[in-house]
Amino acid sequence: MIRINENYQKLRSSYLFSTISKKVAEFQKANPRKEIVRLGIGDVTLPLPKVCIAAMHKAVDEMADAKTFRGYGPEQGYDFLREAIARVDFKARGADIAADEIFVSDGAKCDTGNIQELFSHDITIAIPDPVYPVYVDTNVMAGRSPGFSGGRYDGFVYLPSTEANGFVPEFPKGTVDLIYLCFPNNPTGATITREQLAAWVDYARTNKALILYDAAYVAFIRDQSLPQSIYEIDGAREVAIEFRSYSKTAGFTGTRCAYTVVPKTCMAYDAKGAAHPLNAMWNRRHTTKFNGVSYPVQRAAEAVYTDEGQQQIRDLNDYYLENARMIREGMAALKLPCVGGDNSPYIWVKTGADSWQFFDMLLSKAGVVCTPGSGFGSCGEGYIRLSAFNSHENVRKAIERFGVAVRGM
Ligand code: PLP
Repeated sequence: MIRINENYQKLRSSYLFSTISKKVAEFQKANPRKEIVRLGIGDVTLPLPKVCIAAMHKAVDEMADAKTFRGYGPEQGYDFLREAIARVDFKARGADIAADEIFVSDGAKCDTGNIQELFSHDITIAIPDPVYPVYVDTNVMAGRSPGFSGGRYDGFVYLPSTEANGFVPEFPKGTVDLIYLCFPNNPTGATITREQLAAWVDYARTNKALILYDAAYVAFIRDQSLPQSIYEIDGAREVAIEFRSYSKTAGFTGTRCAYTVVPKTCMAYDAKGAAHPLNAMWNRRHTTKFNGVSYPVQRAAEAVYTDEGQQQIRDLNDYYLENARMIREGMAALKLPCVGGDNSPYIWVKTGADSWQFFDMLLSKAGVVCTPGSGFGSCGEGYIRLSAFNSHENVRKAIERFGVAVRGM
């Protein structure tokens, strides 16, 4: 008899964004003439940078000619891309990362979800609240939670990110083995200072713990005093894995390319306390279960690292940052406190109302889609997340309608 993985039955309802899509579809069906503005899911709206398109076209032409055609590439990614990443994203910022510590993939979602395979079943995991749901759900699927009670999964150590701590989680009371951190943060848009990140690195070193650092939104950092990579912090190479993605950096959400950094000096331990390099383990996993990102897509990603490419992705993300600025200004006019939106495309708005009720009100009265804060964890109750990924025109419209709806509450 074929048996199921019963851990899947512990998962709460469907994925957050599926629930939102369902609600929006129902609303649209009932109100076919109402124009909806989506500030919910964080999906980019602008086309790919011109340098990426040119590189992709050229690579497609190479695939059309027997002399330049390429079949399977290296699972870890082509050297041309890994070397460009090491040079521009790390070495240029004083972070000592080499090309063979970089693993190119088709998404940070898969990588942040798959990485937990490398660790023992019975580790203690610290998860910020609110959080990108993938970190939690993938550990539940793997059997690291006995069940759901009191609004949270049992078995995890939750780290509240609240107004009181500036949305940067404090250290857990006891010791933990694995820590998920994400900055600039999804969903709060908060950033972490160099000193705060150094304190987390110290914590991990002291406790032989590991930090999983998700920097998917690094391209929105404009404050140069903020760290862009955890490897800018001394000692991080031994205790941190970093995730990056071209999804938001260069508008690749539909193109798919990302990478994970696993330094060769980064260790985890067996039951007897012997150290094992995670680079070798992730290499084994990646080469066994993944067959590489397509050649044209890797060429497109490589183009991001030219001078022209760097300028084009900056312009691209400045466009969304201008939306974020408008949203913040709109929330300030309504006297709704918010965080994020200056070095991040997300704005975390304190409405004080039940998150899903506010979502329903905003959809029905304004035709604006937000993301209910409670969908990211119980500390998100009373908040909504607004995303800056849209056109200036739609954002202006959404803020105007948002204001009318809130004033009429
Ligand atoms: N990490 C965070 C924090 C995200 O918000 C997202 C996308 O929304 C991802 C990872 C996924 O990135 P990718 O498109 O590379 O799978």
